[in-house]
Order: sequence, then structure tokens, then C-alpha cells
Amino acid sequence: MTRVHEHHVTNPATEERVATVPAAAPADVDAAVRRAAAAQRGWAAAAPADRARLLRRFADAVDGHLEELAALEVAEAGHPVTGARWEAGNVRDVLEYAAGGVERLSGRQIPVPGGVDLTLLEPLGTVAVIAPWNFPMPIAAWGSAPALAAGNAVLLKPAEATPLTALRLAALALDAGLPEGLFQVLPGAGDVTGRALVDHPGVAKVVFTGSTATGREVMARCAEQVKRVTLELGGKSPNIVFADADLERAAAAAPGSFLDNAGQDCCARSRILVQAEVYDRFLELLEPAVLGFACGDPADPATAMGPLISAAQRERVRGYVREDEPAAIRGTAPRGRGYWYPATVLEREASDRVAVEEVFGPVAVVLPFTDEADAVRLANATDYGLSGSVWTRDTARALRVARAVAAGNLSVNSHASVRYGTPFGGYKRSGLGRELGPDALAAFTETKNVFLSTD
Ligand code: NAD
Repeated sequence: MTRVHEHHVTNPATEERVATVPAAAPADVDAAVRRAAAAQRGWAAAAPADRARLLRRFADAVDGHLEELAALEVAEAGHPVTGARWEAGNVRDVLEYAAGGVERLSGRQIPVPGGVDLTLLEPLGTVAVIAPWNFPMPIAAWGSAPALAAGNAVLLKPAEATPLTALRLAALALDAGLPEGLFQVLPGAGDVTGRALVDHPGVAKVVFTGSTATGREVMARCAEQVKRVTLELGGKSPNIVFADADLERAAAAAPGSFLDNAGQDCCARSRILVQAEVYDRFLELLEPAVLGFACGDPADPATAMGPLISAAQRERVRGYVREDEPAAIRGTAPRGRGYWYPATVLEREASDRVAVEEVFGPVAVVLPFTDEADAVRLANATDYGLSGSVWTRDTARALRVARAVAAGNLSVNSHASVRYGTPFGGYKRSGLGRELGPDALAAFTETKNVFLSTD
């Protein structure tokens, strides 16, 4: 392979080099697309039960290496080990779930005059999955597993900072018996390897997860070839706390909703909207909960929050708020080596930049609201629409508000957004299309209509 350059993978908790990974040049992408096309033909022609069996074996291989995969995620992304174990388990579950869909991916028979009408769900061919660094392993699987299950080949480009779990997954797929070339990992820079994948005429669909700015560019380039695209982009999600909520529970759950993965989470509930009459009480309850969210060594199972991914990301977060600026609540973080940043809760105007833009760090803004209409207005005052939470004891109100918030994933008295069996994706500038859930495989097919005359 011709290599233009290589990437250094750094442990964000220690700043030590973990690995050096060669980057794929456009010529490598071209060769990979050709290998993928050859593998895909055989894969699509194989018996569905055999494809399902191989994907289950892949899931089993992941299950047999959960600790190793989790350790890689700790080393390259700085995720606390408990979260990293969940992520590896999520990859296994997503593969299992997709395998279950292979034999259930059926078209329809539609009543028509003069004959019989069938729809066939055909694989697209080769799918490129471009993943971000924040949840490298699960997000790689959310695109790759259903695409493979629907009969496609997959070329996965991990983010520059986090290629190690993706490379290991590709090796496990081969060990499990997936055909050579069917699932390839191509590490490299976004504007070289990523762009080469997006522009390659042999790639039928791009599944992109990352920032809204890059997603817009990917979509525009896909438009050149009318290429299929799924976009999972940024968020600025609301956590709406009504006065009638179980405030203790709501306050205890709030830190996890914006501090998990040090806030580098597209679903982070980084705008906490609290009804005015309980605003002070809620902040009183929130403070010990935030201070108790242990930030430190990711390898320690007691750790809830690790470092940010890089020095550049920390500078980005500091661009919104420096660690010495006044804050309503500020946690502690280790000093010295590592890209640490403390949990921070701010009281700011709704129009303040930090209350409007995605920070992608452990920073939330608390804003008061007067009534239900005001809460919905504030919740929707954003270009994003990925997720949101509603805390109330009034079930009718919970449903009214969940329906009124323009976002793809709402939770009531909970912050859970992601399940392999339910659809995930964004409204507005948070994305296009859905991943996971019962329709995941269909997003990787073309519908062909066939009419057979009976005359
Ligand atoms: P990013 O847009 O910089 O990069 C994402 C991926 O795209 C990387 O693999 C990168 O190398 C690649 N890339 C960059 N430029 C490219 C180009 N011109 N053509 C093709 N590929 C290119 O995003 P990031 O900083 O890695 O991730 C953080 C962002 O991801 C946040 O905005 C976050 O909200 C979002 N995100 C969204 C979801 C979701 O499901 N909605 C999930 C996780 C992260």
C-alpha cells in the first residue's frame, strides 16, 4: 500500500503515545473499493441464514474480546472503563440485532390490476461509514452492522484520534469468517481518506457521524453523484425540569446527562431548563450531584468522567469558558498531564454563545422558564434537534412536551437516548435519516418494484 502519512494515537489521560497507524491514501481507497465490490457480490448471493450465522459469529468474537476492546477505548479515547465495557457490549448487541434482521428483510406484495407486484429490497453495494472520535466503537457498529446484514460491503473510516478499536473489529470479523474485503477499515485524515471515500463512484452510500459543519460538506459532495447519505450530527439538547418533578431524582440524574464522556456526547443535555419556582432548590440539589461525579483515572472503575480527547478540544472548550471564570457549579479535575477539564454549570442568558452552540465538553447552562409553553419555546430555540429529556410527574404533560420538542430522541424521567432496538437520529441540523431500531437494515437497501403480468 502507498502511504501518504501516519497518525499517532495519544492516550488523552497521560499524553503518552499509544500507537502509530498508517493512513490510507486515495489510491488505497480505490483499491479497497475494488476489493469490497468483489467481496460484496459473493456476500449478497450467499444464503441469508449463512450471512446471519457469520454476523452472529462476529458478535461472539466481539463478546470474547470485550475486555481487550474496552481497554483500547480507554487508551485511545480516555473513556472510563465501565463506559468502555458498555460500548464493547453495545457493538456485540448491535451485531446480534442486525444478524436477526437478515432473514426478516422482506419486501411486499402489493395488489395491482393485471398481475402481481413485488418489491425487492436490494443491497446498495459498498457503504462508507465515517466515524467520529467521541464514541468510536459503537458508532462504527451502528452503521456497519446493518449495512453488512443487508448484503453490503463496508469501508469504515475511523477518526484520526481513535482508529484502534475499528482496526481490532476488522480483525475479529476476519477471525469470525467474514469474507476478506467485505469489512475493511481505512484510517486516515478526514480531508484525504474521508473525502476520497465520499467522492468515490464505487461507494453507494455514506454514513457520516460528526460535526454539523463537516456533515454539510459531506452531503454537498454526495449530492454531486446523488449518493445516498445518512448524517448523525451535533446537538444542544434540553433537559426540561418541571416544578412537579421528583427533583431529587432529576438532580441526581442530571450530571450523567451532560458529563458522560466528559460532555463529548452528541446527546448531551447541555441546556438545563428549570421551572422558575424550583430553580433555586434544583441548583442546591444539583451541586452535590455534580461535585460527586468523580473525574480521574479512566482505568479506575469508580471513575465517572475522564479527560477530553485532545489539547485542541480542551482549547475549544476553554474558548467558551476558562476554568477560572465564575461558574454556578464547578467540579474538580486532575492537574498535570492529560487533557482534563472540570465539570462546569453556568448561569447565562439564553442567547449567550455557550447556551446556543455545541461545546462538546463538560459544560451545561441552566436557564429558568415560566410555564409549559415557555419551556417548549426555549427547548426549540436551537438549530439542533437530536435529543431531550422531560422531568415531570404529570404524564399527559410529559407526552405533550415530548411531542412538541422538535428532536429525534426524547426521554421522560430518564436521559436514555440510545438502544440498539430503537431508532436514533436528529431533526433539523442534527442529521438526516435514522440508525438502529427495526428499520436499520432498510436504510441500506434500494427498493425495486417488479410487476409480473398475468395476462
Ligand atoms: P468531525 O466532523 O471533525 O469528524 C468526523 C469524521 O469525519 C472523522 O472521521 C473525520 O476524519 C471525518 N472527516 C472530517 N472531514 C471530512 C471530510 N471533508 N470528508 C469526509 N470525512 C471527513 O467530527 P468530530 O469532531 O470527530 O466529532 C464530533 C462531532 O460529532 C460533534 O459535533 C458531535 O455532536 C458529533 N456526533 C454526532 C453523533 C450523532 O449520532 N448525532 C454521534 C457522535 C458525535
